[in-house]
Amino acid sequence: MAKQIAILGSTGSIGRNALRVIDALGSGYAIIALSAHSNVELLAEQVRRYKPKFVAVTNPDYVAQLGELVGELDVEILAGPDGLTEIAKLEEVDIVLAAVVGAAGLPAVLAAAKCGKQLAVANKEPLVVAGELLVSEAKKNGGTILPVDSEHSAIFQAMQSGTREEVNKIILTASGGPFRGATVEDIRGVTLEQALAHPVWNMGPKITVDSATMMNKAFEIIEARWLFDMPVDKIEVLIHPESIIHSLVEFVDGSVIAQLGEPDMCLPIQYALTYPQRVAGISKRLRLGQIGTLTFEKPDFETFRALPLAYEVARTGGTAAAVFNAANEMAVEEFLAGGIKFVTILELIEHCLNKHDVKASASLEELLEADAWAREEVRIKSHKGISA
Ligand code: MG
Repeated sequence: MAKQIAILGSTGSIGRNALRVIDALGSGYAIIALSAHSNVELLAEQVRRYKPKFVAVTNPDYVAQLGELVGELDVEILAGPDGLTEIAKLEEVDIVLAAVVGAAGLPAVLAAAKCGKQLAVANKEPLVVAGELLVSEAKKNGGTILPVDSEHSAIFQAMQSGTREEVNKIILTASGGPFRGATVEDIRGVTLEQALAHPVWNMGPKITVDSATMMNKAFEIIEARWLFDMPVDKIEVLIHPESIIHSLVEFVDGSVIAQLGEPDMCLPIQYALTYPQRVAGISKRLRLGQIGTLTFEKPDFETFRALPLAYEVARTGGTAAAVFNAANEMAVEEFLAGGIKFVTILELIEHCLNKHDVKASASLEELLEADAWAREEVRIKSHKGISA
């Protein structure tokens, strides 16, 4: 029997790459469900091609349009965020690939964990915002969480070299973003255009700004903390501008095992689908002879405040990371709209973290409440000024 895959967020970059990977994997894998927020034209094309039994449109305004586009096909259309959760819980689903942008996919991801599914997590929010809850639900219900984020996939792969007790620390690599080497002073003058130019990965504007502030790496520290049940002081960040080593694991004997590859999401996506097996696929091959030199630097915690803040947030636990994530999402939105300066993104996040009353061992409702509070706080402060 083919493994039945549900892709939450199939029209985004991860979703589209996942479909390419699944195409190449052949008959052992089938698409049973797809979802999109509003890009129903692409979703309709995907439905024609992959013939899923279920499809969810999370923005209810677009449901009717999809109905017109695929009306004659034998597919059940589900509407709204609840439709997404329904898909994640389907009896027939073996693997849920979660690639929904933002905190919107959280209830669905949690539902998949509660149903004991194999859960391939591609976006950062589930593990950042609800890592503690998600991991404990998966554990309780026999689910597996497999990372798709390239660094965490690398760590997960490197960890196969020993037992969990033999791991001494995790070394998370970072490209350093477009402002690598910048000083605190340089960062003050950064424009929107400068923040949107990334040297290695070609990504959407939100993720590109997260790379410029190094917030993406900050999130990855928190992700790793939950995914690998690793105290944060055993997680280290290493700047590696070429993005060829995707991360490393140091074992107790001093041996360091790394995973290398071209910067290409197809490999981590595929590994999360075929684990514990490895199969031939469409990933680009690494030619180290042509690359020649790999370089490394220590991260600059003074210029990139997101990094030390992430350690604090991970140590605090509870609702702190939900605030960290939501404040960032909202502040980046304000920055992209031209409402605030680049440096103000981190100032707003720090403001929210200082003002927030942390709740320990938070439920999904409490996490979403903290998320909503931080968004509103950023919205108010970005229009009135932080000191107001
Ligand atoms: Mg990453």
